[in-house]
Amino acid sequence: MTTSAKPKIAIVGYGSQGRAHALNLRDSGFDVTVGLRPGGPTEIKAKADGFTVKTPAEAVAGAELVAVLTPDMVQPQLYGEVIEPNIAQGACLLFAHGFNVHYGQISPRADLDVVLVAPKGPGALVRREYEIGRGVPSVYAVQQDNSGRAEEFALTYCAGIGGARQNAIKTTFKEETETDLFGEQAVLCGGATKLVQAGWETLVEAGYQPEVAYYECLHELKLIVDLFYEGGITRMHEFISETAQYGALTRGPYVVDAGTRAQMKRILAEIQDGTFARQWIAEYAAGNANYKALKQADLDHPIEQVGKKLRANMKWLSTAPQTPAKAAT
Ligand code: NAD
Ligand code: MG
Ligand code: MG
Ligand code: MG
Ligand code: MG
Repeated sequence: MTTSAKPKIAIVGYGSQGRAHALNLRDSGFDVTVGLRPGGPTEIKAKADGFTVKTPAEAVAGAELVAVLTPDMVQPQLYGEVIEPNIAQGACLLFAHGFNVHYGQISPRADLDVVLVAPKGPGALVRREYEIGRGVPSVYAVQQDNSGRAEEFALTYCAGIGGARQNAIKTTFKEETETDLFGEQAVLCGGATKLVQAGWETLVEAGYQPEVAYYECLHELKLIVDLFYEGGITRMHEFISETAQYGALTRGPYVVDAGTRAQMKRILAEIQDGTFARQWIAEYAAGNANYKALKQADLDHPIEQVGKKLRANMKWLSTAPQTPAKAAT
């Protein structure tokens, strides 16, 4: 049904990704409506940003392209109760993560185009990079191409949110879902957090000052990651001392050894065979007791107390662009 070069877009959900996509698409000249539950937690924010906010049903009904940017676990019910009964024949349904389609939690109607545009970065970065004329690399995929133009819609949306076209990599729902989950579990969020906590605990248990351990194991990680980001591991080696290089090259493998690699393969196997997805869906359905307890333990970890105290003296942090508390990958 879409004929215009710039499809009329409904963004459902106004959190980390939803807000960034809505703002960027509007600045790129798209007609954007935000669909939110009346009285929901982000309605005020969307209105303050100047958007027309409708109920999800109304926003969906009036759109040529519907971007589903609510938390993954609420999407199946939202799709069944609100999106499928209201979305126009032949419209384009867009996701920012392939989880529900890949694991069969949502089976989109046959007349729809179904695409994925997943920025490889949190929403705040998607917005900030757009504002300074850059972009966050994105991947895109087509699951259903009813109109013959599904890929074009994905690329148009990708360009509209600032995911520079030359950096957009074509993928599949399966590849995006499995690699995204693996990255956040093994390396970016799970691996990095546990590495930092374990390193800090090792130093503190051995009697070193918690504040010094914080700088070594958490604070300085940013400096290393910035070098990775700019020029890979090569650039890190250019900037760190020979002593650090020799220690890294010989001791890094103590930490990431055959056992760690076997656990990474286990993480990947549980993603590929659906074990992780089933566990997370069951956890959510049962009220998230285990998820909440594990998260609370991370928030209560003593490194957080030390960090809070030290960061209070880092005046530049209060003027830096804010990353929202909710910024999972
Ligand atoms: P979020 O939790 O930050 O925001 C969710 C939004 O949905 C909020 O505005 C909330 O009020 C709204 N919402 C919740 N339930 C709703 C309902 N029933 N009806 C209407 N609105 C509802 O979500 P997020 O982290 O931006 O994730 C959105 C999607 O983007 C997910 O598929 C996620 O996997 C994907 N993604 C997220 C990131 C990230 O950095 N956070 C990166 C890439 C992809
Ligand atoms: Mg050092
Ligand atoms: Mg050193
Ligand atoms: Mg990710
Ligand atoms: Mg993710």
